[in-house]
Amino acid sequence: ASSALYVGIDLGTSGCRATAINRDATILYTASTDLPPARAEGNARYQDPGLWWQAVERVLDELFEQIDPARVKRIAVDGTSGSVLVTNAAGEPLHEALLYNDQRDPVYVEHLKAMAPPDNPVLSPNAGLVKLLWLSMHVDKSALAHCLHQADWIAGKLTDRYGISDLNNCLKTGFNAEHHTWPRWMDTLPLDNAWLPDVQQPGEPIGPISAHMARRFNLSPETLIVSGTTDSTASFIATGASEPGDAVTVLGSTLVLKVLGPSPILSAQYGVYSQPLGDLWLVGGASSSGGAVLKQYFSDEQLQAMTTQLDPQQHTGLDYYPLPAPGERFPINDPHLSPQLEPRPDDDVTFFQGLLEGIARIEKQGYERLAELGAPFPKRILTSGGGSVNDAWTQIRQSLLGLPVETAPNTEAAYGSALIALRSDKN
Ligand code: ADP
Repeated sequence: ASSALYVGIDLGTSGCRATAINRDATILYTASTDLPPARAEGNARYQDPGLWWQAVERVLDELFEQIDPARVKRIAVDGTSGSVLVTNAAGEPLHEALLYNDQRDPVYVEHLKAMAPPDNPVLSPNAGLVKLLWLSMHVDKSALAHCLHQADWIAGKLTDRYGISDLNNCLKTGFNAEHHTWPRWMDTLPLDNAWLPDVQQPGEPIGPISAHMARRFNLSPETLIVSGTTDSTASFIATGASEPGDAVTVLGSTLVLKVLGPSPILSAQYGVYSQPLGDLWLVGGASSSGGAVLKQYFSDEQLQAMTTQLDPQQHTGLDYYPLPAPGERFPINDPHLSPQLEPRPDDDVTFFQGLLEGIARIEKQGYERLAELGAPFPKRILTSGGGSVNDAWTQIRQSLLGLPVETAPNTEAAYGSALIALRSDKN
C-alpha cells in the first residue's frame, strides 16, 4: 500500500477545497470551488447546508478525475466552527445553517453571558453556541437529534454517522478540552445534552465511508473518515509549525498571532484562547490592526507597486498605531483606543512604510502580551495571509522582533486536513 493517498477537505468562509497527498505529504492535486454567498437578513447570515455538500461533491469529482479514488485510505474534513446547524437523527437539516459571521439578537447573547463563566470562548463574537441555542428554539424539538458544526455534518454525510465532532470545532461551543467533558454549567442551558456531539481528537476514526458514498465516488469501502478540525487550525497545521515556540502570524485583513505552548492560556480581557493540538496548545490573539487599514488608503496595485520601493534599513521614525476604526482588544484592551496615523508625510511610500512599521510593533507587543499571560515567546515566526508576500515587511518585522521570520511554505487548510488524515495512519 505504498501508493496510499490521504485527502483533506476544507470548507472555508468563501470556498471549498480538496487536496490529495501521498505518504511523503507531497501534494498530488488540489481542486477548489466557490461557495455561494450567504442569505443575509439584517445581521443574520443563513445558508442551505446542501450547498456545502454540493461544493464537496464538485471538488471530490474533480479530484478523482486526477487521482485514483481507489487509492484513498483516509479522509479528514475541516470547516468553520462558527457555521452550525441542527439535524434530525438521519442527519437531515431542520433549518438553514447559521454562518460564522451571523450576529444573533443581543438578547440571546445576554442570555448566554448570564450562564457562561466570564472567560469562556463561547462568548467570542463568532462562537457557535449562541447560534445553536437559537436554532434549537426555532425547530421541532421532537425531531432534533444533533447540534453540529459544518465539518461534522460533511463527515456525517460521508459516513452516515452523525453526532461526532472534534476538540477544535467544539472549543467555542463550550467543550472543556482540558477535562474532556461538556461542562456542568451547560446543563443550565435549554439545550438537551443528547444533542451535543461526542468529541474526539482530530485524526481519530469516525468510521468507514458509507456503502452508498463509496459507490458514489468510486472509493474503496475501507476508506476511513477521521475527525478533522477548524479551518484556522488546519491552516496552522499546514505551515508545518509543530514545536513549542513555533508561531504563525496571519497578515490578513486583521493581525492574528498564534504560538504553540505547553499549556492552555485563556484571557477574556484580551480575547485570548487556546486550541488543543496533540500534546500542545495553540494560543491565539487577534488585533484589529492589519491589512484592512492599508486598504483604506491604497489599492492592491498601489500596495504592490510601493512594496518594491520600501527601504527596511531606513526607519521612518513615524509612531503609528494603525486601526481601521477606534477600539482594540489585543494586545491593548481599550474599546475606545484611537488610531494613531499622524503626521502623514507627503511621500506615500514613507507613509506606507510607517504603517507597516506600526503593525510590526503591534505584532511584537502581541507576542509579548501572550508571553506575559504564560505562553512561550516565539522562537521563530512563520507568516501567512496577503501581507506575507511583502519581503521588505518581513525584514522590518525580523529586525524589530529579533527572530527568524519566514513566509510559511503552505497555509492551505485542505493540506492541513490531509496531514491530519496521513498522521492518523500509523501503518
Ligand atoms: P483576509 O483573508 O483576512 O481578508 P488576506 O489574507 O487575503 O486577507 O490579505 C489581504 C490583505 O493583504 C489586504 O488587507 C492587504 O492590505 C494586504 N496586502 C496585500 N498586498 C500587500 C502588500 N504588498 N504589502 C502589505 N500588505 C498587503
